Amino acid sequence: MNVIRTVLGDIPAKKIGVTDSHDHLIRSGGPEVNLDPAFLMDDLEASKKEFKAFLDAGGHTMICMDPIGCGRNVPKMMELAACFEGQGNIVMTTGFQKGSLYDPRTSFLATVDTSKVVDMMIAEITEGMDRHSYNGPVVERVQAKAGLIKAGTSYRVITDLEQKALKVAAQTQNATGCPISVHTDFGTMGPELLDIIEKNQGNPEHTIICHVQRNPDRYYYKMLLDRGAYLCFEEADKAQYRPDTEIAENIKWILEQGYGRQVLLGMDGGRKEGLASYMEPKGLAKGLDYMLNRFVPVMRWVGILEEDIHKILEENPARAFAIWQ
Ligand SMILES: [Zn+2]
Repeated sequence: MNVIRTVLGDIPAKKIGVTDSHDHLIRSGGPEVNLDPAFLMDDLEASKKEFKAFLDAGGHTMICMDPIGCGRNVPKMMELAACFEGQGNIVMTTGFQKGSLYDPRTSFLATVDTSKVVDMMIAEITEGMDRHSYNGPVVERVQAKAGLIKAGTSYRVITDLEQKALKVAAQTQNATGCPISVHTDFGTMGPELLDIIEKNQGNPEHTIICHVQRNPDRYYYKMLLDRGAYLCFEEADKAQYRPDTEIAENIKWILEQGYGRQVLLGMDGGRKEGLASYMEPKGLAKGLDYMLNRFVPVMRWVGILEEDIHKILEENPARAFAIWQ
């Protein structure tokens, strides 16, 4: 049976419900936070409110994309998930972000043999995540397992370290049947990252390419869709980059071309100004419920059918995030 591996255990894939396919609820530090404090999301009560707003809007499962070395906080996420037992699911990820967030010479990703890093990832998926997210020599596994493998690529480049992380991701997928979700800078390098995954016994059809809204090039979309990959559109409500209608129109175009089974939707709030509960003391902001309360109506408005919205929010995530056994 194909399952979704949530923080609280496995569920049948078809029970995933309405899904935010790329988001963040807790980020307790790490290099992104050092670059910009708006990335810090370390207040459990505020994060609970944010997740509740998503559930109140009709959501059921959130795919949380914080990997090793980027502020992933296993105990806090477990506490958060336990608060919503029976109401909603959280999936956590193992693996790595783009290479610039790790030391290219001294990080364990750089110094440890590929096969040993693969074993570390497999253990997070099959035995339990490390409570300390592999931040040091003491590993203490918890009951909660990772349900997704992350990798990341840079803008127009896949560095040596990123190639190693993609190789690790592909080999981990081959051993576990777990899907891969890849951060791409500005939506670039999709075909090249699929080549690396394929070459290392991973499957492009079980790979999700994130942030494609940043590269709104339909020819590029078609190249990736023809390889069988999922495209994840995020970042509604980022008007400084593009209007929501542009994202919705591109999704509609993909549906019209017959690739409706390969589209996913996430919010990727990720920063304080996109989280109403974190901004509450300071001012009014929109939260992670925006995807369902505000962006889905835009999809309807550009003419996307209800059955296709259902596909994007439920049927596709049930396939894309399934661990096949
Ligand atoms: Zn993200």
